Amino acid sequence: MEWMMAIGGCVSCGRVFAFNPNRVPSLRVRRDDQGVPYPAPDGVTEPVCEPCVHRLNALRQQNGLDPWPVWADAYAPVGSDDPRAEM
Ligand SMILES: [Zn+2]
Repeated sequence: MEWMMAIGGCVSCGRVFAFNPNRVPSLRVRRDDQGVPYPAPDGVTEPVCEPCVHRLNALRQQNGLDPWPVWADAYAPVGSDDPRAEM
């Protein structure tokens, strides 16, 4: 059985975690001179870890916004039967 996961730092908290690169929630950001990310539509895509996406979704809902959708397999391996695994 073949599978794949990506490993990277969460754009929100910096924690290193494993994720499905095709499904993980992410934000487009740029970083300032101190390395602090800020939203930028033309920035690079960086992943958001599961605890942060749940925390941020709770804040969004408290502020009357729809939560970001989160795929059930966002933090699971990409299996060899998944055609998106062929990169
Ligand atoms: Zn995080």
